Amino acid sequence: MFNESDFKYMKMALGEAKISFQRGDLPVGAVLTIDEKLIGRGGNCANTLDKWSSHAEFIVLDMFSRTLKNKEKSSVSTLYTTWEPCLMCLSISRMNRLDRIVYACPDPIGGATKLNPSKIGEWYTKKWSKIEHGIYKEESFNMLVKYCIVALSGLLIIGNCLLYNFIKVGEDNIYLHGLSHTHFPV
Ligand SMILES: [Zn+2]
Repeated sequence: MFNESDFKYMKMALGEAKISFQRGDLPVGAVLTIDEKLIGRGGNCANTLDKWSSHAEFIVLDMFSRTLKNKEKSSVSTLYTTWEPCLMCLSISRMNRLDRIVYACPDPIGGATKLNPSKIGEWYTKKWSKIEHGIYKEESFNMLVKYCIVALSGLLIIGNCLLYNFIKVGEDNIYLHGLSHTHFPV
């Protein structure tokens, strides 16, 4: 399902997530490619810029919107993101006629990729991005857990809420493994 480029660019997106983490933002990174060539990359800046909308995917897609608009019709645009896109990022993907979205880890709280485009209007169904996930999901998840633990020192309620949801998902699948290494006192 995933090729060599997918692994390469998701790893790059993880690098962007790490940069976000280091400056105190939510560790989510995104990379945009066209025909497997790098177009742009970025990370979440919501804390740094003090804006709710500064998500990694939104920043990258908005910055290279003109490039996407002028690409050859036969070219394939792909967005790699370390976390499942939210409603806003899914929406800007559609507005930019993105061909493909690859994300690493599902977001049990704010992920919107299960949205059925046929329920929200005919226009959306005409070019809905192909969505794939699961590549480097443990790496992405572990970074998020680390961020939550740091966030807990100052934002107890938000941190607890995030962890609670992760644990709920973890009971059913692989995420429990990720949490077992955090030694988080829950
Ligand atoms: Zn988003």
